[in-house]
Amino acid sequence: MNTPHVVIIGAGFGGLNVALQLRDAPVEITLIDKQNYHLFQPLLYQVAIAGLLPSQIAYPLRTIFRKQMNISFQLGEVTGINLEACYVSMNGSVIAYDYLVIAVGAETNFFGMDSIEQDGFQVKDIQNAISTRNHLLRMFEQASREANAVKRRAMLTFVVVGGGPTGVETAGALAELINHVMVKDFPNLNLREARVILVEANGHLITPYPHELRHATFHLLRREQVEILLNTKLANFNGQTVTLGDGRQIATYTLIWTAGIKAAPMLDSLGVERAGAGRVRVAPTLQLSHQLSHHPEVFVLGDAAYLVNGNGQPLPMLSTVAIQQGKVTAQNIQRIIDGKKPEPFHYKDPGLLATIGRNAAVARLWGVSFSGFIAWVIWVFLHIYRLIGFRNRILVFVNWAWDYIFYENQIRLITKE
Ligand SMILES: Cc1cc2nc3c(=O)[nH]c(=O)nc-3n(C[C@H](O)[C@H](O)[C@H](O)COP(=O)(O)OP(=O)(O)OC[C@H]3O[C@@H](n4cnc5c(N)ncnc54)[C@H](O)[C@@H]3O)c2cc1C
Repeated sequence: MNTPHVVIIGAGFGGLNVALQLRDAPVEITLIDKQNYHLFQPLLYQVAIAGLLPSQIAYPLRTIFRKQMNISFQLGEVTGINLEACYVSMNGSVIAYDYLVIAVGAETNFFGMDSIEQDGFQVKDIQNAISTRNHLLRMFEQASREANAVKRRAMLTFVVVGGGPTGVETAGALAELINHVMVKDFPNLNLREARVILVEANGHLITPYPHELRHATFHLLRREQVEILLNTKLANFNGQTVTLGDGRQIATYTLIWTAGIKAAPMLDSLGVERAGAGRVRVAPTLQLSHQLSHHPEVFVLGDAAYLVNGNGQPLPMLSTVAIQQGKVTAQNIQRIIDGKKPEPFHYKDPGLLATIGRNAAVARLWGVSFSGFIAWVIWVFLHIYRLIGFRNRILVFVNWAWDYIFYENQIRLITKE
């Protein structure tokens, strides 16, 4: 018998875990990604606020799989999938599969607001995190030589849109950068003029979190002097002015958009049923196997997949979901090869965590809510533990320890893009 060929598209949290879990399985794996590294997206905002280097949160895929004998890596972007003939198209060639795993993740959703896509900043991949960092640092440089007070204040006004965990973390970290680091680097600049404004359309920050943690987040951010605008929609940004839904205007050159994501565009080529945020509807076994599309050899997972949880809500777009689904997908492929039935996926919620700054985080773990220093220590250690590569863990730990002791952000470099 031929060895089954498993093609995995995407080496993010989902795809990576499928590949690792199949290391001893009797299969040949081809792992395809348009990047040659696995990226730890939860720490991307640290790159954007000059806290970490990209290489500290990204790890080369060929290094991860050096010792795994049943895998080959292909760098490239999959542009099409033929579900009937069982092949994927990439770089002008095709790759046939027996089993296909689609783990292509998500991209930023601007909800059709082209002006924000064009003039705003985002924190979704390394390139845009570096662009954000360069822009933020340039604003301080320009403000330091700007005599016109109105223009200078606009340069020192930073608007973050989206009060979810990424928006909260970005706003908190940016306020700390200004209050503890830039204040030392720019002694002649009056940084009391600087503003960090967090805009959220809902009446709460971090909506999925319990009430006490939303409340704690609000107060921790206020302590860092972040201005919080709840029940406020963004209407427009033209690169110089933010216009809010109620007509108010804020002069600023910086808008960081963290208010939405949607499944990766590559999924459009599938022609299958899609649900909220463009995610592909899957069976509980994560197979593309329901009334409308019957392809049990195809698995979709992570941010790309839509599956309803036991509580009737769609599973959130979180790394913890993608990691657990990656492991179950690998087990199900192995079960099918062994002639057994695949098993349904059940999400085990490990809890919620978000950091607001030094000594300040909120966490819901083991059914208990924490906020402040204890939550921050848990956040630091969990994020270091979850980074791939011993070297990265040590570097990030040393970086954060240094920042902690000396109130410094070490990567304050404006680089060429
Ligand atoms: C700024 C930020 C902060 C976050 N914070 C948290 C957090 O604190 N906790 C948490 O649990 N989650 C967090 N998340 C969400 C988490 O990162 C995602 O849920 C998770 O990455 C989803 O995993 P995935 O495998 O589905 O996709 P991803 O990890 O996004 O991986 C998708 C992979 O597919 C590749 N790919 C896409 N299209 C193609 C193509 N056509 N051809 C080839 N390769 C392709 C991409 O290059 C990528 O490597 C955060 C996300 C962001 C952006």
